[in-house]
Amino acid sequence: MRRPVIAGNWKMYKTRAETRAFFAAFTPLIAASNDVDIIVAPPFTALSAAVESAHGTGIAIAAQNLHGLREGAFTGEISAGMIVESGCSSVIVGHSERRQYFAETDELVHRKTKAALAAGLTPIVCVGEILSEREGNLTKQVLKRQFEGALGALTPEEFSRILLAYEPVWAIGTGRTATPEIAAEAHQYLRGLAAANFSPEEASAVRILYGGSVKPDNISGLMAHDQIDGALVGGASLDPESFAAIVNF
Ligand code: PEP
Repeated sequence: MRRPVIAGNWKMYKTRAETRAFFAAFTPLIAASNDVDIIVAPPFTALSAAVESAHGTGIAIAAQNLHGLREGAFTGEISAGMIVESGCSSVIVGHSERRQYFAETDELVHRKTKAALAAGLTPIVCVGEILSEREGNLTKQVLKRQFEGALGALTPEEFSRILLAYEPVWAIGTGRTATPEIAAEAHQYLRGLAAANFSPEEASAVRILYGGSVKPDNISGLMAHDQIDGALVGGASLDPESFAAIVNF
């Protein structure tokens, strides 16, 4: 039985003060939720405020990006070790916005995933097709390329420590959610890739989150599907009431 996980990606939103206010409102709303792993990914500058605010609640804090090397002359970059030192246990890797606006390739996503794992972080590795790829019937081809490029060279032990997020790019921030059937079909395909590249045991153990316009009113339908182990939530994770409603699906 895979334990559900609900993760919030705050992108470039919220100051430290706003982060503290969020947790003050959010924490009581999810106090009774013991059956779900909760992860919140604030911007780098608010990580320590989030870690302090979440202390003792069981909520894990994630960064949204990292550099693939331990240290070096890379102005503006942050390493996995620095993220660990901030009190985080997890990091989002290869989000479609990083791929689209910052030219992240599958190879780079692979290096970042390795760096996160080496530091003991749980990478939340994102894959997903853009609209023209879905319309061109290329979804499986794209998922295979992204999966194998980013994860194929991991050891089975490393693979067992990742979370996978299927985020069809056409559903991110658009209000257009994939139906549970569309998401589940992609998850099942990804699980097949995990079986082929690792083992049937790894495939049935890996948790696959769906991301793309998840809201309080569509989370139950998504989570009802046994292929969908959780959600990566953007916009709706910024508001404590709506994110709590999603966590408490
Ligand atoms: C995301 O940023 O990963 C995301 C899924 O965003 P939204 O929920 O706003 O579509």
